[in-house]
Amino acid sequence: MPHAARRARAAEGCRATGVAALLLAPGSDLTYLSGYRIVGSERLTCLVLTADGEATLVLPELEAPRAAVAAPDVARRTWGETEDPYALVASLVRGPGVLAVSDQMWAAFVLGLGAAAPGRALRLASTVTRALRMRKDDDEQAALRAVSAAADRAYARMRERAFAGRSEREIAADLAELLRAEGHDEVLFTIVASGPNGASPHHATGDRRLVAGDLVVLDFGGTRAHYGSDITRTVSVGAVGDPEMRRVHDLVLRAQEAGYAAAREGVTAGSVDAAARAVIADGGYGDRFIHRLGHGIGLDGHEHPYLVSGGQDVLAPGMAFSIEPGIYLPGRFGVRIEDIALIGPHGRAEPLNHADRALAVVG
Ligand code: ZN
Ligand code: ZN
Ligand code: ZN
Repeated sequence: MPHAARRARAAEGCRATGVAALLLAPGSDLTYLSGYRIVGSERLTCLVLTADGEATLVLPELEAPRAAVAAPDVARRTWGETEDPYALVASLVRGPGVLAVSDQMWAAFVLGLGAAAPGRALRLASTVTRALRMRKDDDEQAALRAVSAAADRAYARMRERAFAGRSEREIAADLAELLRAEGHDEVLFTIVASGPNGASPHHATGDRRLVAGDLVVLDFGGTRAHYGSDITRTVSVGAVGDPEMRRVHDLVLRAQEAGYAAAREGVTAGSVDAAARAVIADGGYGDRFIHRLGHGIGLDGHEHPYLVSGGQDVLAPGMAFSIEPGIYLPGRFGVRIEDIALIGPHGRAEPLNHADRALAVVG
């Protein structure tokens, strides 16, 4: 969908909720509504989208050439090094209502904007943007498919590499190289958690050398055209070292399948978490599944809907999220399997990742 159509829907959301304008700092809301992506700095950049649908990108003069390329259809108002950008932003907001600021806007900017618009209440921009961004349009779905397929190819190639005797860091460097080779613009994370380290879901990849009999959790991803991949596979270095490893892997796989079966239009995110969690609890490892089942993904690596116990977001076509059950046995090993799922037009969850989920034996 062109950015202009997204802005029209966001403006409609503003009118429906008494918001005079969205004030968006560098971040995913700004990218979603304009196509412009920039890392935030101490110089204020702010997309002002008023309730009547007018969009203006307020930005430092030196950034204007770049913004003109990325968001050619958005009006620009530049400020010089000695000017007050807050007054400029405030002058663009005329109608009644509150100001909705980016959830991740720096506090210094929030306070500056608040002072420049006395009498206006502030609220979070996500009150308008979340509902839009949760349901991916066709362009976004295509981007998620492409980046997920790239991650699948990286995993398939990784399985051909040597694992035994190499360090977690070396494996992680291979994963990063393969993600780039298969079409990622940026690599955001490469978790390699081997042997007992696998029991820490967000293990900090380190210098441990892999040995035969290790299970290794590989959780990696990045972005392509701003949209994220996120995949986890657990592999065995040589023959599976302990029959419990295979039992646990089977259980996690069945929990993931239960998650896919439960994820459909009209159910809550919490009910999907519950369906997968019940499989692991029935298998006797309920207390070792120590995180939520999944998270939305798109321009942000983690975004709504969150598949968490009690989660009230209702699933709808176009929603994309991870399904990533895990079991973690301290001092021994861990298993996690993660794919990105998309609620398709007929209301069922389809996987965007197709890399083999079976417990792979690597060399
Ligand atoms: Zn995680
Ligand atoms: Zn992950
Ligand atoms: Zn994830």
